[in-house]
Amino acid sequence: MSTVFTYVPSPKHVFPDHPERPDRFDLLLPRLDSFGAQKLDVRPALKEEIARVHDPRLIATLEEICREGPAVIDPAPTFVTRSSFEDALLASGGVLACTRAVLNGAARNAFALIRPPGHHAEPQRAMGFCIFNNAAIAARDALLEGSEYPPLKRIAVVDYDAHHGNGTQAAFLDDERVAYLSTHQWGIYPGTGWFEEAPHAKKRIVNVPLATGAGDVTYRRIADEIFTPFIRSFKPELILISAGFDAHWNDPITSLGLSTAGFHMLSKKLVDLAEEHCNGKIVFVLEGGYDPANVANGAAAVFSALKGSPTGPDANDPSPYPEPDASKRIDEINKWHGF
Ligand SMILES: [Zn+2]
Repeated sequence: MSTVFTYVPSPKHVFPDHPERPDRFDLLLPRLDSFGAQKLDVRPALKEEIARVHDPRLIATLEEICREGPAVIDPAPTFVTRSSFEDALLASGGVLACTRAVLNGAARNAFALIRPPGHHAEPQRAMGFCIFNNAAIAARDALLEGSEYPPLKRIAVVDYDAHHGNGTQAAFLDDERVAYLSTHQWGIYPGTGWFEEAPHAKKRIVNVPLATGAGDVTYRRIADEIFTPFIRSFKPELILISAGFDAHWNDPITSLGLSTAGFHMLSKKLVDLAEEHCNGKIVFVLEGGYDPANVANGAAAVFSALKGSPTGPDANDPSPYPEPDASKRIDEINKWHGF
């Protein structure tokens, strides 16, 4: 079976001097044909599909704000334009198309290359460059009766964007059908994601806050020592990945230390865990990443992993910065969760 993808570049969702901009995809677009994956058509998500995560009053308010023209809706800053409501529906639709293709057997695995991103969007508010929580909407869809496949009972979301996915955590904080694991730089936006912040949901809500410079060595340990027991203990039927390439060492707005090889290693580990536990059912969802070369190389690394390649794309970009020792943090997180 094949690897599929969706592509939603939202060219009219743009704001002056904002890092979350259409040209994030400029180096990705010319490489899409080289990834050996099949492109799926996308339809906009329905408001009722969005409302499985977001308050209908928020959806109505956002539609109204967008209709009135460009606006900044939070201090991140998160912007909207006249096209942003439709763009956000199409971005969520891009993730739904990928997830449904994997669950109904049309595809082996998938990557939704979409913007605007989603993981900061909470049930009651859009924030952090995000309008609707694309990954959370796809997870809720897969849990529902009435789809073209039997509803799932357990889904894991793994988020390796450089920022904590506060919106995804908020959506599933008390939903025992969904587990959430986030690795992120500690001390930056949005300020949440400390490892002890969900004591009622040990082993299910797992936060891995990291020091500046944490890179390929640290993430390899996290993949082996935290991702693996997290997936083994939760036993999901589908893994969704919030893939943010802002964890690359030269991202312009963050200070982590991954390279393209590191993104391949992490993604391959997740694909292998999906093979072991979920019949290979895994869907990657683009979140952040603000350097166009990192987005293109990161996407190439994910497609290599989805196709089972032991090596990533030819991008020799190791971090030039020293990496702090994360042993103490990894040990305290494992102790907290009993992994
Ligand atoms: Zn991010």
